[in-house]
This record gives sequence, C-alpha cells and structure tokens, in this order.
Amino acid sequence: MVGITLFDKKEYMKKHYQEHKEYYKEKHKKWFQDNIKSAREHQKQQREQIKQYINNYKLSRGCSVCGYNKCAAALDFHHNGDKECTISQAIVKKYGEKRLKKEIDKCIVLCANCHRELHNK
Ligand SMILES: [Zn+2]
Ligand SMILES: [Zn+2]
Repeated sequence: MVGITLFDKKEYMKKHYQEHKEYYKEKHKKWFQDNIKSAREHQKQQREQIKQYINNYKLSRGCSVCGYNKCAAALDFHHNGDKECTISQAIVKKYGEKRLKKEIDKCIVLCANCHRELHNK
C-alpha cells in the first residue's frame, strides 16, 4: 500500500461507487421492493398509533370550555402559543413523537362548537 493516502482512498471509494453505480442502484431497488410492503405496513401501524394517541389525548382532556369528551372526531386542537403547524399537518408531515408532543403541548383541546365560537369572537 505504498503511497495511498486517505485522500486517495476517498477518491478510490468514489470511483468504485461510480463504476458500480448501476449495481448499487439495482441492489437498492431490489431491497426497496422487498421491503416496501413491510415498510408500508409499518408506516400504517405508526400512523394508527399516532392517531390513537391523539384520540386518547383528546378524550382524556375533553373540551377545556364545556368539558365535552364523547367523540374524538369532534374535538380539535387549538393553538395557544406560537404555531409551527396544525396537529393534522404535523401528522401528515410525519413529525417524530417528540416534536408532535411538543406541538400538542402548545394547544388546548376544544370541541368543534366551542372552537368555532372562539374563532368567531
Ligand atoms: Zn366545548
Ligand atoms: Zn383554533
């Protein structure tokens, strides 16, 4: 290994990758196809988990004005503090659990009626 510096090694790796690009691409594609089904399942599961967490959260808090807590679908998050995005946007954007919870912490739970009233004031 005479004269091979770290730089050369880096260059070599780059060249190696370039030369075998197609191979790596194919390999990745295959891996992707093999895994896409389970990945999708996993994503679906995660989404369900988040949904469940949010529904439970809403129901356990209830509307902070009238106390309504019958149906999670009729309960909204209303931002009190600075708003990064709405909670439903956060779910679509696939926020991590920590970030999502941080955003939820800025909100109060309101039922649809009280929420509308509040924004109508
Ligand atoms: Zn209410
Ligand atoms: Zn609101």
